[in-house]
Amino acid sequence: MIVVMRVGSPEAEVDRLCEDFEAWGLTPERIVGKHKVVIGLVGDTADLDEQQLQERSEWIETVLRVERPYKRASREYRHGEASEVWVSTPSGKVAFGEHHPVVVVAGPCSVENEEMIIATAQAVKASGAKFLRGGAYKPRTSPYAFQGHGESALGLLAAARDASGLGIITEVMDTADVEKVAEVADVLQVGARNMQNFALLKKVGAQDKPVLIKRGMSSTIDEWLMAAEYILAAGNPNVILCERGLRTFDRSYTRNTLDIAVVPVLRSLTHLPIMLDPSHGTGRWEYVPAMAKACIAAGTDSLMIEVHPNPAKALSDGPQSLTPERFERLMTELAVIGKAVERWPLPEPVLV
Ligand code: PEP
Ligand code: MN
Repeated sequence: MIVVMRVGSPEAEVDRLCEDFEAWGLTPERIVGKHKVVIGLVGDTADLDEQQLQERSEWIETVLRVERPYKRASREYRHGEASEVWVSTPSGKVAFGEHHPVVVVAGPCSVENEEMIIATAQAVKASGAKFLRGGAYKPRTSPYAFQGHGESALGLLAAARDASGLGIITEVMDTADVEKVAEVADVLQVGARNMQNFALLKKVGAQDKPVLIKRGMSSTIDEWLMAAEYILAAGNPNVILCERGLRTFDRSYTRNTLDIAVVPVLRSLTHLPIMLDPSHGTGRWEYVPAMAKACIAAGTDSLMIEVHPNPAKALSDGPQSLTPERFERLMTELAVIGKAVERWPLPEPVLV
């Protein structure tokens, strides 16, 4: 249930109401928007009457019931306002959200060695990426496939962060690794295969770093938003949703089917920022540019693109990785679409 306060409501009145709600066994969550304060009520609100609740204060503008299974993730929970996720990077804070420029995240599927990760970081940074991606822990279908270098790769990501000034996004697969990964990552990635690993969701929800949650390859949008709700309910408000392609009947030409329709659908359902990943979404580097452009035209807040200095030799996902040169070209093409939809970052001032 959502209690929308009138513009200019005294803080003491909001405090008083929150105390009442707590006394009823509910968890009130105060959301301070640009114009209004909204109190989200989590808990068993089935017996509450909207009318009676409204009459408790003349400062209450309206009381709304959220009918959806997810509450905190719902658009209504913030009274229609988009949320923004601010991430600290060595080069400053970067915002993910509907009212901010598109944020590009780029890098190899896996962190393979120091030289390649630093070279890739510097190259994608020069082309305009704001974050370096790269897996230290890799979820692989085969136990015999390269599993990632683990902890030592976290150290390489830290070195690439220092060398490039980029923020780091990397996957955490195991609850036991959350603290360790969070020491290096600026954003923790929960991969498609772990979207419903509820123990992991609770754990990343109970720490401070923002979380990128990828949609399971066969998950519905409601299941995905419920997974995000786990993280929000555990106390972490900084969640970004990433669509990375679905497993559909035709896998002859593409690895997955990228569901770009999630952009308008999620906009109506949730306030959370959206990322699209055309690399895993298609599985083929040749198709990445067209889809990346379409994602920006559709209104995504962010893009994830796999880039590898030598895709033919990549230890994972080579066929879908762009070379740094192709990535650079793509960024100039994306700028055209990004500017057309007024979502492209201004060039950084050149210091002379
Ligand atoms: C990845 O980002 O490299 C990855 C494994 O993605 P997904 O979980 O979407 O398969
Ligand atoms: Mn990959």
